[in-house]
Amino acid sequence: MILDHYRRPRNKGILDKADASVEMKNPLCGDEITLQVSFEGDSVCDLRFSGRGCSISQASASMMTQLVKGKSTEEIGAIRKQFRELMLGNTAAVDDAHLGSLRAFSGVARFPARVKCALLAWSALESALAERTS
Ligand code: ZN
Repeated sequence: MILDHYRRPRNKGILDKADASVEMKNPLCGDEITLQVSFEGDSVCDLRFSGRGCSISQASASMMTQLVKGKSTEEIGAIRKQFRELMLGNTAAVDDAHLGSLRAFSGVARFPARVKCALLAWSALESALAERTS
């Protein structure tokens, strides 16, 4: 699942009209991501990412864009919190259907160095949402 998203990333590219644009790096691994988000009311109506890095960072970004598209900032906040729990090794999060394909990352929790890779896109999204509300 992770390799599939790495090889064929979803929502990769540039948005014509973005309301928020965030660049974020994970110096530990060398991952880079630029996330562009456009909003409609309180929901994310579209988003794209670009950048490069390890398979985990890229696949995480790809799955994240699929999962949060069309969702409200509140729903996204809840998913982000649960994904963080998953990365902290909280096994209850593994059974949370809201996480969808993100559950494929549960094994990453055993590798603390890779957790930052998996969370990079989510940190970028958090900044984009904050940019939007500020
Ligand atoms: Zn990485």
